[in-house]
Amino acid sequence: MSRHHSENHRTDRVGWLRASVLGANDGIVSTASLIAGFAASGADTRSVLLAGLASLVGGALSMAAGEYVSVASQADVEGADLATERRELEQYPEGELRELAGIYVRRGLDPALAAQVAEQLTAHDALGAHARDELGITHEMRARPLQAALASAASFAVGAALPLALAALAPAERLASVMVPISLMCLAGLGALAARAGGAPMLRGAVRVTVWSAVAMLATAMVGRLFA
Ligand SMILES: [Zn+2]
Repeated sequence: MSRHHSENHRTDRVGWLRASVLGANDGIVSTASLIAGFAASGADTRSVLLAGLASLVGGALSMAAGEYVSVASQADVEGADLATERRELEQYPEGELRELAGIYVRRGLDPALAAQVAEQLTAHDALGAHARDELGITHEMRARPLQAALASAASFAVGAALPLALAALAPAERLASVMVPISLMCLAGLGALAARAGGAPMLRGAVRVTVWSAVAMLATAMVGRLFA
């Protein structure tokens, strides 16, 4: 039981870490690509930095909006499930008690103990017990749309700030040759971190992210060249 519990916690933390690494990853790749494209077109530094800033703001808001919609609809489903459960508990308390006891029997308790556990948990917090053991919704796991939206926006913005800062600090004529390799190095690091968090080989994770990010930057740079 405690083993299962701690595993749950790890999965949960990995989920958050993974989400923020992916957000930062997106922020670096899309902003570095945009900057590389503008720089390759021969745009002046001011335009290049403006494009990078627009990518940071637009990308962060788009991540927030997407995450909000997705998590909010998940929260709606949970809310509807809980409302149904609450209604059933009011209308059929005995059926719900039997249902709860049945769940504990399936998990390995003998029928007498299961009935006792179900009765005591029902007396303590009937809806909470059904939410957790029947629907699998715990308080810590409840979908929180605003929190998820802010976390996505923040991790994207942190990622996007890296190539933007490099572009601002690098001398104008060497902008791409400074920003691209350093951005790729950071992406490799994040790829390795994400792989490690998920228990996958770090090198493979790093190489995969780096190759695809390099392709993205190269592609936008080539588009920029077309307009040079
Ligand atoms: Zn129920």
